[in-house]
Amino acid sequence: MTTLITLPDTGDVVSTVPKRLFIAGAWVDALAGDTLPVEDPATGEVLCHVADGRAEDGQRAVAAAVAAQAEWARTAPRARSEILRRAYEIVLSRTDELARLMTLEMGKPLAEARGEVAYAAEFLRWFSEEAVRVEGGFATLPDGRNRMLLMRQPVGPCLLITPWNFPLAMGARKIGPAVAAGCTMVLKPAPQTPLSSLALAEILAEAGLPAGVLNVVPTSRAGEVVEPLLRGGQIRKLSFTGSTQVGRILLAQCAEKVVRPSMELGGNAPFIVFDDADLDTAVAGAMVAKMRNMGEACTAANRFFVHRSVADEFAARLAERMGALVVGPGTQPGVDVGPLIDRTGRGKVEELVADAVAHGARVLVGGVVPDGPGYFYPPTVLAGVADDSQLLRTEIFGPVAAILTFDDEDDIVSVANDTEWGLVGYVFTRDLDRALRVSERLEVGMVGLNTGLVSNPAAPFGGVKQSGLGREGGRVGIDEFLEYKYVAVPV
Ligand code: NAP
Repeated sequence: MTTLITLPDTGDVVSTVPKRLFIAGAWVDALAGDTLPVEDPATGEVLCHVADGRAEDGQRAVAAAVAAQAEWARTAPRARSEILRRAYEIVLSRTDELARLMTLEMGKPLAEARGEVAYAAEFLRWFSEEAVRVEGGFATLPDGRNRMLLMRQPVGPCLLITPWNFPLAMGARKIGPAVAAGCTMVLKPAPQTPLSSLALAEILAEAGLPAGVLNVVPTSRAGEVVEPLLRGGQIRKLSFTGSTQVGRILLAQCAEKVVRPSMELGGNAPFIVFDDADLDTAVAGAMVAKMRNMGEACTAANRFFVHRSVADEFAARLAERMGALVVGPGTQPGVDVGPLIDRTGRGKVEELVADAVAHGARVLVGGVVPDGPGYFYPPTVLAGVADDSQLLRTEIFGPVAAILTFDDEDDIVSVANDTEWGLVGYVFTRDLDRALRVSERLEVGMVGLNTGLVSNPAAPFGGVKQSGLGREGGRVGIDEFLEYKYVAVPV
């Protein structure tokens, strides 16, 4: 594999990361010899090429995972725990290089990439701790004549599919619990960002993960590779993070062999600011909930509902903060906002803003695509967004805050819930009764109460409605990778 361009102080990071498939503990080329290009979204230039798996490579990876499963399930939990703990330490010790790699392939500013390295590492540490806390049960049943022995066992070989927006953390959030539970796995990263996953696989191997437990197959032919694996009968679990649209397709494919699914899908988060909110806190929360990852987050605030009495002030203050952000290549010091992932992603944001403006929205700041290379879009605030604007029913996935006003609590909770998604909602108020009442009524899996950040490895992450099935992280994260077995024992 060749590195096509060498950036002054970053070419080393790209050139040293493995660029082949990782199967049965070995770095191998795709059988057909294909490669796929990895682009730097800040320049549109090709950074390097990585091996591009086809269906037969997916089958090889599953065969390796299946072959390793029985022995891996017998490994002592402490041994699995210590592999994850070593991986946690190696990831942290390589923070700078992993952050730079992620910034190059995905675009986020270095400071955010460093934050993601810490976040990803924390999943490895959390699940190293959970690996030794898996408990079954024993009980005398109510009839007094029978006993119940309850065992926890790994679900079996898993398929993990990750998106491009958090390339390291989404992999770690799945690999951590799968390793802890004693499952083997095949990881298919997003084709835009395979390098972070390949680097993570190398680290896990260095930490002592046995051959075949983790296999990685980047591919530009996701459907062609994944469908036969889900229909093949050997994969016992799918853990998917990505769009609701693709999640639906994969759920249908899981149905044939009754593959157990976990789905972390899209969102359409409401961000509700009541008239009694502390506006400093609300604006600070909005900056995080909107601008983390340039707005390319499933948790991104998509619809801002602000009480009419504070809407103008909130909008003005948010526009001032958004307008002061520095847009540029994420590798450069002082940059707050990197490029969007690709031309398609940016084009979608442009269309959504144009549609909102056509329906009467006022652009308070931003809204104009800068000249030059890369897929940059400026931080944008839209006020007076009309109810029938498309961006209220679509994940914007960009740095655009769409503000609407409201008068009544009951009405706004109904409007906030009027969406097929239910991942997260944000509520800003100083009234404790209202805070709890609205948190209970929002149809979401997570609520940020006077905060714009909910993600934490120790908390169960996930959504309701069409935002997903199951939870990642927290005490329950490992359950997704474990089965119960009940043994009946007469007294
Ligand atoms: P996506 O288009 O759904 O892709 C996600 C992954 O699925 C990629 O690896 C993709 O590979 C793969 N894929 C696509 N079609 C497939 C198919 N037919 N069979 C098998 N795999 C397939 O989503 P994305 O654009 O990468 O990511 C953004 C989405 O992820 C947003 O909706 C966001 O909300 C969601 N997300 C959710 C969470 C969460 O925890 N809830 C976290 C992060 C992101 P290809 O690109 O090659 O198609």
